[in-house]
Amino acid sequence: MRIAEKLAASARGVSFECFPPKTEKGRKNLYCALAELEKYRPLFVSVTYGAGGGNKDTAVGTVLSLKKDFSFEVMPHLTCIGAPVGEINRILDTYKAAGIENILALRGDPPAALESFDESEGIFPHASDFIKHIRKEYGFSCGAAVYPEGHFQSASLEDDILHSAEKFSSGADFGVSQMFFDNSYYYDFLDRLDKAGIKTPVLPGIMPILNFEKIRELAASSAKVTIPAKLEQIMGRYSDPDDIRKAGIDYASLQCADLLKNGVKFFHFFMMNRSESAARIIENAGIL
Ligand code: FAD
Repeated sequence: MRIAEKLAASARGVSFECFPPKTEKGRKNLYCALAELEKYRPLFVSVTYGAGGGNKDTAVGTVLSLKKDFSFEVMPHLTCIGAPVGEINRILDTYKAAGIENILALRGDPPAALESFDESEGIFPHASDFIKHIRKEYGFSCGAAVYPEGHFQSASLEDDILHSAEKFSSGADFGVSQMFFDNSYYYDFLDRLDKAGIKTPVLPGIMPILNFEKIRELAASSAKVTIPAKLEQIMGRYSDPDDIRKAGIDYASLQCADLLKNGVKFFHFFMMNRSESAARIIENAGIL
């Protein structure tokens, strides 16, 4: 079923984002985690795609297996940067034949090795161009990535909202946000989108903190995600990984409770191929 239709027909809902496992053990762990989370009747489970298609076969293989083995909607992510259109179309053909109905259409990051990578040379320079192609040639329902604090390459928040809005006017019928640790960024983003005339639903991306150092690194690199002083303070109290994970669950539970209070109905969890944190947050916050 198309995700936009599911969102329109649901009062509340959760979705989960996983990454393609590299080993058989990783595959078993992912399957166990998803079997646990299936009871929440996810709106969809999305599968990431390695930047530049580095893990193309594993990503496509994971999508096809999940589609075959589970009853939930599986949504592949797909990036277009630097990829020949023939290669992209072959993947889209495979997904179409497998009964996939939704794609998270992304530009992706320029390959790190190519410092002088010229984005304008791609067939689809931006996600909005890619979305138009997918809608026109394949008819999939498309999701778009959005950034409550602005994308790291955007010159300003105004510039960012213009390009976010363009993805929706190009045919994306829902958005999924980058993680954020201060809800005001998400509320402000929705306000800016609303002022730009876009009413399309945007699921907030919720990151359960498993390893705070990794989150800090990500935030300091290209992700443009603020770590609030309050979160630093809380995490500063702990060194044991279990304590950090528990504090991360508590933090995200409060974040989700506040989002619920402010009328948010749908939540997208970056599950990191594990079930426990996402499940605890859903229960603690009373999402469903
Ligand atoms: P775009 O929408 O093209 O935006 C990229 C930049 O270009 C922005 O700064 C934007 O403001 C600007 N821009 C857009 N249109 C125009 C225009 N017409 N003219 C000028 N500037 C413009 N990456 C992966 O590799 N694999 C994944 O599976 C993956 N999953 C993700 C899931 C989520 C929920 C999110 C939030 C991100 C994900 N990413 C993933 C990261 C994403 O690929 C990067 O953030 C990438 O740098 C931008 O992709 P985009 O689709 O947002 O690009």
